Amino acid sequence: MPTNSSNEIDNQCFMTIINFAAKLLLLSSLALLSFAGFAAEPKRPVAVDLLITGGTVVTMDKERRVIENGAVAVRGSEIVAIGTSADIAGRFRARRTINARGKAIIPGLINTHTHIPMSLFRGISDDLDLNDWLTKFIFPAEAKNVDEAFVRAGTRLGLAEMIRGGTTTYCDMYYFEDAIADETKKAGMRGVLGETIIDFPVADNKTHEEAMAYTERFVRKWKNDPLIVAAYAPHAPYTVSTEHLMNIKRAADASNSPVVIHVAETKKERDDIAAQKGNTPVEYLNKIGFLNNRVIAAHTVWLTSAEIDILKRNGVGAAHNPQSNMKLASGVAPVSQMLARDVAVGLGTDGAASNNDLNMWEEMDTAAKLHKLISNDPKTLPAEQAFEMATIRGARALHLQDLIGSIERGKRADIAIVDLDSLNQTPFFNIYSSLVYSTKASDVRTVIINGRIVMADRVLLTLNESAIKRDANAYRRKIINSLRK
Ligand SMILES: [Zn+2]
Repeated sequence: MPTNSSNEIDNQCFMTIINFAAKLLLLSSLALLSFAGFAAEPKRPVAVDLLITGGTVVTMDKERRVIENGAVAVRGSEIVAIGTSADIAGRFRARRTINARGKAIIPGLINTHTHIPMSLFRGISDDLDLNDWLTKFIFPAEAKNVDEAFVRAGTRLGLAEMIRGGTTTYCDMYYFEDAIADETKKAGMRGVLGETIIDFPVADNKTHEEAMAYTERFVRKWKNDPLIVAAYAPHAPYTVSTEHLMNIKRAADASNSPVVIHVAETKKERDDIAAQKGNTPVEYLNKIGFLNNRVIAAHTVWLTSAEIDILKRNGVGAAHNPQSNMKLASGVAPVSQMLARDVAVGLGTDGAASNNDLNMWEEMDTAAKLHKLISNDPKTLPAEQAFEMATIRGARALHLQDLIGSIERGKRADIAIVDLDSLNQTPFFNIYSSLVYSTKASDVRTVIINGRIVMADRVLLTLNESAIKRDANAYRRKIINSLRK
């Protein structure tokens, strides 16, 4: 028995050892497997279409991360990762890599207010107030020259200028906006494009009903397009009746479309609306129920404090156009008060005829300086905030903040790569200071919109620059002759 018993104990010990050994083997093979998994990962990087590496990534995300020696991975139209160059290089393999060493990788700039074909009226007349400028030059020149071919030529000119300057999205209002959308799409640019509706006969539509029918077709045609957002653009509260404004609002509500409108641009407009309607412009638009979170209001110069609250409460986007407002001496929009209440106010150039270019770098610089001067406080509108207005806050102004305005995973790949070593940028101390106060449009090197490279090393890939200039100069002669008659 003792022997037996001893044998039993020996047997039990043996089984325990076997069990233990088996478990050890299982565990170690699991560990080996998982180790092999980790080790294999760098050998199987994820395939993407484009990597931009080695630059200073200015993300404009919520934390305002700036990543030195950073990289961005793009698949199709989408940003799939942002990180250091080493991190991204370890995780992704791309068909194409852009070396952005020594350069800034920034969100494409957003021009929140243009009349793009008016590029062809650049310099036609300067140094006049809005009323004289419009009635003596712009309206007659438009009446005699604007047709679809004119609009297309002017749009191509404006697109080329904007892409050269790192602008990747613009918000427009003009006539023949469907042709503008077509040219914009062909150039690979992103646009919120509003067909102008105004209470007098214009080049494309002669009546309100015609304009409404045109715009409804236009909006339907571009529904769900990856680049084009078609919009209604009633010209202003003083050029479109209350009844027509409400027709537009109902149609835009039905199609979930943005509505672009000039609001409170001049003191005259504010005084005229007050005399006719008994309210200032934003109060009037609010009273008739016109405002909502799809409205984009250009200028908003002559606002009361209560009107700033109305814009904020209704989620209205605003487009601040400092150079155009200065050139026409329209006034200074209360931008620091709007920013203090977190209104979605972006920057715009307005049409080239009242600016006279479509250069967002100048608008950032001008906005930052103008509001310091007007508030008598150099701490007003610091460089980073000016840059924010040209990027993520501009995206909010256009109600596109979920898609564009920052370099973030899941957003569309709208990116500009900008030199940081031009003479005008040297020496370098601070990224926002350099971008807002020193950088020029000519420092933009490469531009990507919706994942597509539209300018590489300063060469436009989707537009023919010499043909654009030739067309514009042919229109110059035509415009001069038309104003003589
Ligand atoms: Zn305008």
